[in-house]
Amino acid sequence: MKEYCGLVGIYGHPEAARLAYLGLYALQHRGQESAGIISWDGHEVRAERGMGLVAEVFTEGQLDRLAGDVALGHVRYSTAGDSSLNEAQPLVVRYSGGFMAVGHNGNIVNALEIRAHLVEEGSIFQSTSDSEVIVHLIARSRQKSFADRIVDALSKIRGAYSLLFLKDDELIAIRDPYGFRPLVLGKLADSSWVIVSETCALDLIEARLVRELDPGEMLIINRQGIVSHKPFASQPQRFCVFEYIYFARPDSVLGGRSVHAIRKELGRQLARETKVEADLVIAVPDSGTSAALGFAEESGIAYDLGLIRNRYVGRTFIEPRQSIRHFGVKVKLNAVKDVLCGKRVIIIDDSLVRATTSRKIVKMIRAAGATQVHLRIASPPMRYPCYYGIDTPTRRELIASTHSVEEICRYITSDSLAYLSIAGMKKAIDPAADPKEEENICLACFTGDYPISFPGEEIMQSARYRE
Ligand code: AMP
Ligand code: SF4
Repeated sequence: MKEYCGLVGIYGHPEAARLAYLGLYALQHRGQESAGIISWDGHEVRAERGMGLVAEVFTEGQLDRLAGDVALGHVRYSTAGDSSLNEAQPLVVRYSGGFMAVGHNGNIVNALEIRAHLVEEGSIFQSTSDSEVIVHLIARSRQKSFADRIVDALSKIRGAYSLLFLKDDELIAIRDPYGFRPLVLGKLADSSWVIVSETCALDLIEARLVRELDPGEMLIINRQGIVSHKPFASQPQRFCVFEYIYFARPDSVLGGRSVHAIRKELGRQLARETKVEADLVIAVPDSGTSAALGFAEESGIAYDLGLIRNRYVGRTFIEPRQSIRHFGVKVKLNAVKDVLCGKRVIIIDDSLVRATTSRKIVKMIRAAGATQVHLRIASPPMRYPCYYGIDTPTRRELIASTHSVEEICRYITSDSLAYLSIAGMKKAIDPAADPKEEENICLACFTGDYPISFPGEEIMQSARYRE
């Protein structure tokens, strides 16, 4: 099951659960369906989980109940599988070695296969989540230490994962060998350790960024200190390019670079490649804002606020139910007539998925009096679904997989449409990279070159070549 999530781990702080709560607040964009915190006080493990936003899930009383100086927090959304409290994480289970808690961000491509095998052997599952497969494998492992059991379990698993485990006095953080999803280590002034999905969560709790975990790295934090291991065979690095394009918060730092700065550079490169005569550059807020600023700077065309977002409405796609999306745009965005009336407008968004939102936006801008509307997308055409933890629709629903740029342009009724090239995107993300060398990012949703094979890939690939 796809699980796009945010993780927080706090080790050695008397207010661990409250810090985890704040960290989850900063990571709310990574999952709005459920939230949970587990705490450990040296004797007892406690859990609070619920459906909804972080602010809705936890009460003052619940946070007080989460005693202890170790805590693990998780925000989640998913599309496949159930959207119920059963699926909310972190997951806590008891097994022969005591309890273990786990929070997972990613997608295990062979989870169904392993699950079917375990069920055949008598295992009972309570949720559809990949994490349950992982804990079963850990519980069944014949290795002695908890860390070795984890490594043993993960050696059977293929896919994308950033994981946080809590077991007695030990907090263990792991990034898969390809490094699809981010995970960073921070430190508080009083020397407590912090592990979070993105650096914006460190900023909120005033922790210092120590470093990002390396792909394939396992950090074990306990009362003796912190130790790093590299227990897996090394693989080519494949950090998800969509984290840069859309998912991560612009105030986070990924791979040593500000996400906002990268998005601005994507916009600059887009301007170099697809400039058109116009009076105004506007963004689809908030996803296109950084790129639109870069586009305006590079093209010399004025930037203005042509669309205003109602900040109390969540991101469209994050809602698991389709019906909500159809009303979405008007609830979320409004056009500023004064800015747009009589103008030739370039509108920038970070990506085009189904094109349903963009179509409504283009209509809205025309209705506000714009004389021309040119849509520019700060990433290449998205033609292939993600199997590594980002919620993208099926291939058929991805408009660029079934339609040409001209057809999409006609569908969204814009005067012109242009995307950023793959080479331009790579250059904006890593200007120092040698274009002849293999890149260290995953580009599969644009290229169809999947770094890890998954069940059904052959069928999909043959469909790809039939086109
Ligand atoms: P649409 O016009 O329907 O193609 O939607 C495009 C919008 O969805 C863009 O503004 C993106 O910021 C946003 N978006 C892109 N990829 C995703 C995703 N995987 N999940 C949620 N939203 C996304
Ligand atoms: Fe990210 Fe796309 Fe690769 Fe999925 S397929 S991990 S969204 S780059």
